[in-house]
Amino acid sequence: MPELGPRDHEDASQRAEFQLFLRQRGIRSNNVLRALETVPRTMFVPDEMAPHAYADRALPIACGQTISQPFLVAYMTEQLELNDTHKVLEVGTGTGYQTAVLARIGRRIYTIDRYRTLVSAAEARLQSLRITNVTAMPGDGAQGWPAQAPFDRIMVTAAADQIPKPLIDQLAEGGIMIIPVGTGDQRLMKVVKGEDGKLTEKSLMAVRFVPLVAGRAASL
Ligand code: SAH
Repeated sequence: MPELGPRDHEDASQRAEFQLFLRQRGIRSNNVLRALETVPRTMFVPDEMAPHAYADRALPIACGQTISQPFLVAYMTEQLELNDTHKVLEVGTGTGYQTAVLARIGRRIYTIDRYRTLVSAAEARLQSLRITNVTAMPGDGAQGWPAQAPFDRIMVTAAADQIPKPLIDQLAEGGIMIIPVGTGDQRLMKVVKGEDGKLTEKSLMAVRFVPLVAGRAASL
C-alpha cells in the first residue's frame, strides 16, 4: 500500500489539473469535484500504473478487472444526486476508488464485490484514508444487500444484461440508481423510483464496463 510521502505534492498538483479537466468536461457539482480532489487516485491503481493514474481512461487492476475512467466516476456520481443524508449501495467495489468518492459525499456506503481479495484490498485503502462510513463484503451484488435495504442511492459499476430485480426492489421510494445495462452495446441508465414506486428510466450515454457476473468468485 503506498504510504503518504514525498510524492504527495506531485499528486496534489496532478489533482488540481484533474479538477480543471473535470470542469471542462462539464462536471458542475462542487460536492463531486471536491470528493475527486480529495481522493488520491494513485493509491488505487497498481504501482506500475501510477504515472497514468489521472489519465482519463480505465486501467487494469487485480483479478482481471478495471478501475473506471475518472471522468465516468465523476459523471456517474453527479448523476446519482448524492448528499450526506443518503444510504448507498455500491455493486462492484473493485479498487474502492468509486467507493471512496461516494463515502466523501454520502452518509453510509455498503459495497459488494464478488472477489474477496478486491474487497480486502479496498478496505485497507479506505482505512488508510481514514474513511469510516463504508461497510464492504464479498458476494453477489446482483442480489443486493437485503439486510440493509432500502437504499436511497444505488451505484453499479459492472454491466448487467438487465437491471437485477433485487436492486429495483431495494431502491427506496424517491431513490436513484445508476447502472450500465447491455451485453454488447452498453448504455448507462439512470433509474428513478417515484414516491409512488413507479420507475422512470433514462439512457445517459454509451459506456463500456466489465460484465456483472452472477454469483461469488469461487477461489478469490
Ligand atoms: N468501481 C470500481 C471498478 C469496478 S470494475 C473501482 O472504482 O475500482 C467492476 C467490478 O465489479 C469488478 O471488481 C468485479 O469483480 C465486480 N463484479 C462483477 N460482477 C459482480 C457481482 N455479481 N457482484 C459483485 N461484484 C461484481
